[in-house]
Amino acid sequence: MSESPPAKRQRTDASLTRSKIWYKDGSIVLQAENTQFRVHWSVLSENSAFFAGLEGLPQPNDQPTVDGCPLVELSDDAVVDVEYLLKALYTPTFLLQKALPFAVVAALIRLGRNYDFRDLLDTAVERLVFGNPTTLEGYDALITADNSYRSTRILCQPGLLYDMLTLARENNIQSALPCAYYRAIIYENRISLFEGIPRKDGTRTSLPPIDQRRCVLGHEALLKIQSQTGYTVGWLFSWSEDDCTNPTKCTRARVHCLRRYGQMLPVYALCHVNPGAATWFCRSCEKCYKESWAAGRKKVWEELPKFFDLPPWDHLTNDL
Ligand SMILES: [Zn+2]
Repeated sequence: MSESPPAKRQRTDASLTRSKIWYKDGSIVLQAENTQFRVHWSVLSENSAFFAGLEGLPQPNDQPTVDGCPLVELSDDAVVDVEYLLKALYTPTFLLQKALPFAVVAALIRLGRNYDFRDLLDTAVERLVFGNPTTLEGYDALITADNSYRSTRILCQPGLLYDMLTLARENNIQSALPCAYYRAIIYENRISLFEGIPRKDGTRTSLPPIDQRRCVLGHEALLKIQSQTGYTVGWLFSWSEDDCTNPTKCTRARVHCLRRYGQMLPVYALCHVNPGAATWFCRSCEKCYKESWAAGRKKVWEELPKFFDLPPWDHLTNDL
């Protein structure tokens, strides 16, 4: 006498809520925290190697179901992350926006890695790396003449620089780290480094000790090196008057610049040359000033990873 298979368990729980993302013809129910989403196997499988593999597995008889659909619990993932992921999958125009909120980019990177949504992961990483480029040309395209940072593919919000840095490090997006660390020390103050920055939603972004340490050491290293020969401000301390046509004017200008750049308070290592200051010198010295500054910036960029205890640029891979 054969036993009949056990009936599949219908999952019902009063504490569970249904998301607005609930397709009546859906074939799988995802659950994150206490929220369920009814979507389609075919959509998940087409975009995720993880779900493609899961769909191919025989479903156990005691697999929990909801309205006849198998239930897959995403136990470690936040509801909001899953909402953004599904929006990206079901709303074609969603990812076409020029700038996306940081929360969306973070969700696509976290879930993209967890469940191998490769295309979504790549597009989110691309946005993060675009904002934290690996070349000086890419960096220059994002800062204004007065050295302000423009976030163009991730919406600007308080604490964004710390959030991007943490996201990159936690997800092994190493190529974004040198620029992310540099921005964290340039555009945020030292108090924020330890006390964090309040976000609009009442939460607070803060850096963990490993990032605080790298920021402090990087800041000190850049301050020390920027005025050495060959680096950004080094020209001030190894001045050549050989081609100077107006030593009186240029000496006065140099003293002024020494007061400004020589106090060693801010990091100027990757700042643009000051076009106003350039006019204080004679033509010959102006040329020398601009060329030396440009060469110094380039040298700082090439060496940028080491100031933050990172391997050289060509060893910074994105291990996704
Ligand atoms: Zn001169």
